Amino acid sequence: MRTQLFIDGRWTTPLEGGSFDVLDPATGKVIHRAPAATAVDVDAAVRAARRAFDEGPWPRMKGAQRARYLRAMAASVRRRLEELATLEVLDNGKPLPEARWDIGDVAGCFEYYATLAEELDNHDIEPIALPDPRFVSKAVREPLGVAGAIIPWNFPLLMAAWKVAPALAAGCTMVLKPSELTPLTALELGAIAQEADLPAGVLNIVTGLGPDAGQPLSEHPGVDKLAFTGSVPTGAKIMASAARDIKNISLELGGKSPFLIFEDSDIEKAVEWILFGIFWNQGQVCSATSRVLVQDALHDRLVARLVEEARKIKIAPGMTEGALLGPLISHGQFLKVRAAIDTACTEGAKLLCGGVRPLGLEQGYFMEPAVLVDVPLDSQAWREEIFGPVVCVRRFDTEAQAVALANDSRFGLAAAVMSSDDERTERVASRLRAGIVWINCSQPTFTEAPWGGYKQSGIGRELGRWGLDNYLETKQITRLVDDKPW
Ligand code: NAD
Repeated sequence: MRTQLFIDGRWTTPLEGGSFDVLDPATGKVIHRAPAATAVDVDAAVRAARRAFDEGPWPRMKGAQRARYLRAMAASVRRRLEELATLEVLDNGKPLPEARWDIGDVAGCFEYYATLAEELDNHDIEPIALPDPRFVSKAVREPLGVAGAIIPWNFPLLMAAWKVAPALAAGCTMVLKPSELTPLTALELGAIAQEADLPAGVLNIVTGLGPDAGQPLSEHPGVDKLAFTGSVPTGAKIMASAARDIKNISLELGGKSPFLIFEDSDIEKAVEWILFGIFWNQGQVCSATSRVLVQDALHDRLVARLVEEARKIKIAPGMTEGALLGPLISHGQFLKVRAAIDTACTEGAKLLCGGVRPLGLEQGYFMEPAVLVDVPLDSQAWREEIFGPVVCVRRFDTEAQAVALANDSRFGLAAAVMSSDDERTERVASRLRAGIVWINCSQPTFTEAPWGGYKQSGIGRELGRWGLDNYLETKQITRLVDDKPW
């Protein structure tokens, strides 16, 4: 486990010498002391990224050359897959098979953006047809500059890859600030960059607390773009910092995603996708379908089956064979989720199961999956992100009512709809105000497809070619070719 920051291609001790505790959420015990960057380290990291951008070869290389580095990083991630997955379980708590998916997706993300970097060589210049024959014009796509990335703890290395891979593919340089709750695998990216011989300063990694390391990064005048994933309140602060010197920003924020289940759905499939949609990663998923709307005729039978299956979920430390639900990320998160359930009950919801610490798991931050029904529309539980293994269920009568209830939220990240009527699912999908709509499923995520939210769930899109566009500027170059007098 790393004890230093990764700045300008080297491992360096924080200038003010600080460190912070890293805990295993399955035991609550301190497993490491990670390096705590402060404004001086962030400044050194931004300067290194600036030099690598302004003077280094990186932004001027052909995309195909950058692709070779990205592929080398992907190969290194694949080689270390088991080691990185184990570290992720230790740091974040998620079950090992999920950590293995995440790390496999990290490698896939670097490979995907390597291909896009290669393609950029043929698509970086677009001729523009002008109505005036005295001029010719073209649009050129160029790397945006130095990017600052600030990420959360729920998919530690994957959230890093979603930003590092497209930024590097585009020719940007980057300073990455991982969450203080899960710094371990992100620091390993430094070693992966070294193994791939990435030029110094192209990727810099500063671990530390939000106000000490994140804020100086978001305020630094040497940063051209901020890419943030995290909560709405922090996103608002980042947006305010960016506004001061008009930095380019992209924000991936929270959600309160609805899942509409019509009466013609297969009840067993519905239960399966609800469970996956809300309890996967302990419900600590921005796109978790945490509001389930079920049509009247199916409601009672579905709720009964849901509770039956939720009770069977195996809760255990992430390294235990067969574990489906690990611990929540921290004691603070455990208390927050517990408080949300208590508030929901005082506001009129009924708790049918879960929400308590499972017997035999007294250490760590484990919680049984909770099912809340009859959740009032104006309650906090229905309106605010809980970010834990808690599903809120309500009934609906008509399609129009379901769509209205689904859209009645300040968030708009994801939504899901299930029905055996394809015309209906298409119609509903087009009416849902969300950046991602799943039909007859919930949560499958592909590197190729755009990811991001409507409304307060964010600004901009990651993944796919949209993710690359996040890190590119478009320049117009217009030439006078016929200088007859005007
Ligand atoms: P958070 O906002 O508390 O922290 C996110 C990051 O911001 C951390 O690295 C933190 O250190 C940093 N930070 C905190 N204060 C800061 C400040 N003043 N200036 C700059 N940086 C600061 O979020 P979290 O608890 O780590 O993550 C959970 C949230 O992330 C949830 O709301 C979830 O929905 C959201 N999320 C969204 C997506 C998405 O794709 N939309 C994906 C994952 C998580």
